[in-house]
Amino acid sequence: MLSDEELLRYSRQILLQHVDIEGQLRLKQSRVLIVGMGGLGSPVALYLAAAGVGELHLADFDRVDLTNLQRQIIHDTQSVGQNKVDSAINRLTAINPEINLVPHLAALDEDSLATAVESVDLVLDCSDNFTTREAVNAACVVAARPLVSGAAIRLEGQLSVFDPRRADSPCYHCLYGHGSESELTCSEAGVIGPLVGLVGSLQALEALKLLAGFGEPMVGRLLLIDALGTRFRELKVKRDPGCSVCGAAHE
Ligand SMILES: [Zn+2]
Repeated sequence: MLSDEELLRYSRQILLQHVDIEGQLRLKQSRVLIVGMGGLGSPVALYLAAAGVGELHLADFDRVDLTNLQRQIIHDTQSVGQNKVDSAINRLTAINPEINLVPHLAALDEDSLATAVESVDLVLDCSDNFTTREAVNAACVVAARPLVSGAAIRLEGQLSVFDPRRADSPCYHCLYGHGSESELTCSEAGVIGPLVGLVGSLQALEALKLLAGFGEPMVGRLLLIDALGTRFRELKVKRDPGCSVCGAAHE
């Protein structure tokens, strides 16, 4: 059930026929893992907390650095030096004290990642490196949890949803597993803040759609964002039957 205060707090999205009280209850009963409390994780966590997703599991082992604040808007000047998860929990609690926040402060190894993924309904990859992205994807395929994947570097952003519950859905490895460009992080290549905010906001939107059960998720589609020209392009992506990660899982 929703309290009178919750009905008020979420009234503007409950007004939407696509959400309604049933959708809001689904959000309240949902558990989500956010991997990375940086530039993507910031808007993701802020919007999902504000929207009333019942339980947010926050994973990051890093501390807030002054160079993060240009884009990692969940943190502030006072939280420099603090653990990112603790800093995020302070901010999220201030926004919405109705939800549960579960910290994962240590780096996730294969076992702890598998456990963390199994204990939630959906995962958002907000990490900044290929190794973590591959590990998160593999855990999602094994546990059959939908994965909302976003990335932004320099002036380019990408977004897709991988849903192992659907036989036609590719996984992250189908798309990126064959090794392409050399791996760069934002600390090496640079990135513009609002672009990360845009990709993170889209990730939050996809998560709310999947959890509340409305709309058409970005499964089998890859959104490419060119911030320089403000252009959005969409590519179809197919599952690779020979994929070493999801190939066997679907048979
Ligand atoms: Zn695959």
